[in-house]
Amino acid sequence: MRALVFNSGHDVRVEHLPKPIIDEDDDIVVQVSAAGLGGADLHIYRGQIPGIRERDILGREFVGTVAAAGQAVKELKEGDRVVVPSVVACGICFFCQRRQFAACERSNLDRGTLMNEKIIRSGAAFFGYGHFHGGLPGGQAEFVRVPAANVGPVKIPEGMCDDQAIFLCDVLPTAYQAVLNCEIERGDSLAIFGAGPVGQMAAACARMLGVERIYICDRHDHLLRFAAEHYDAIPINFNAVNPEQFIIEHTGFRGADCVIDAVGFEAEGSPLESAMATVKLAGGSGKALRRAIASVRRGGRISVAGSYSGMLHGFMFGSVFEKNVTIKAGRTHVQRYVRELMTYVQEGKLQPEQLVSHHFSLEDGPQAYKLYHNHLEECRKIVLVPGLMQ
Ligand SMILES: [Zn+2]
Repeated sequence: MRALVFNSGHDVRVEHLPKPIIDEDDDIVVQVSAAGLGGADLHIYRGQIPGIRERDILGREFVGTVAAAGQAVKELKEGDRVVVPSVVACGICFFCQRRQFAACERSNLDRGTLMNEKIIRSGAAFFGYGHFHGGLPGGQAEFVRVPAANVGPVKIPEGMCDDQAIFLCDVLPTAYQAVLNCEIERGDSLAIFGAGPVGQMAAACARMLGVERIYICDRHDHLLRFAAEHYDAIPINFNAVNPEQFIIEHTGFRGADCVIDAVGFEAEGSPLESAMATVKLAGGSGKALRRAIASVRRGGRISVAGSYSGMLHGFMFGSVFEKNVTIKAGRTHVQRYVRELMTYVQEGKLQPEQLVSHHFSLEDGPQAYKLYHNHLEECRKIVLVPGLMQ
């Protein structure tokens, strides 16, 4: 089968690899009909994720058809169309019982990326995210082996297209969890940093849940325009305006009730931060988080959906304390939200497919990575389709 593999930083390739087979009784093998290209894949592309090896298959978002099912698989059978959560969870461990699927302590036997407290077990495995996170081959391939198939994959209802379903793998659950973590109340104001797919979908979810005013901050005008047109968000280009100042001035000099950081460690930080990240003294830039802390009101809530690892330079904990801020952060318990979000998509309350700006064939994947990495052609979201004729 053909698959997109990591070769080295900024170099992904299409290779012919053996087709996966059923390994455990509760596995399925999925024939991929669409795979998303997301921010997590870009982190790998840019060489920022430890534990990636040459020829690892990329891709954490994919949907497709069940090509084979193990003996212990209960509900799914050959030919079913399924959406596959990016997180692999066993369904029975301490954390899975609490529906904290991203913390599943049985799906990832690798070491994880916690820097201290190394005797704590690793969190869940992810597809296509390297050998600290379970080493599972990803979905940017013609076929994928999906473990724990009684807990993860969900049948796609009739009438739902791949461009809708692909968002249920990771992006929509991440955005939805980010908004729920804000503990939104009707009439609240929300500021979102980052207008990529997660930021956009957070705006969509927040609108659905009755947030009154949404500010969205980014440096790409076309993304800001999209959020303004589709979710009635107030766009702030931080290359032109100081977003903290703007938000504070427009909220009675208090700040927003809630703030979502949908950027993470990749924000363009200070020269000192860049230098520290280069010598591994910091896990990237804390700029998006600093902006979130500066923009939130006293007693407000910050929800961090963008990913961070290791240490962060310049974390303004004094302000967090002084302003009585609540911060919620972390990976997405995808399985918890898939069915609920599926219903919202079916009902038309969420229309994630509007965000898709490009389709590429799997074979043109390397070109798709370049385009997304360089923010070309007003790219919002890329879907890779194996065998797509262009
Ligand atoms: Zn578990």
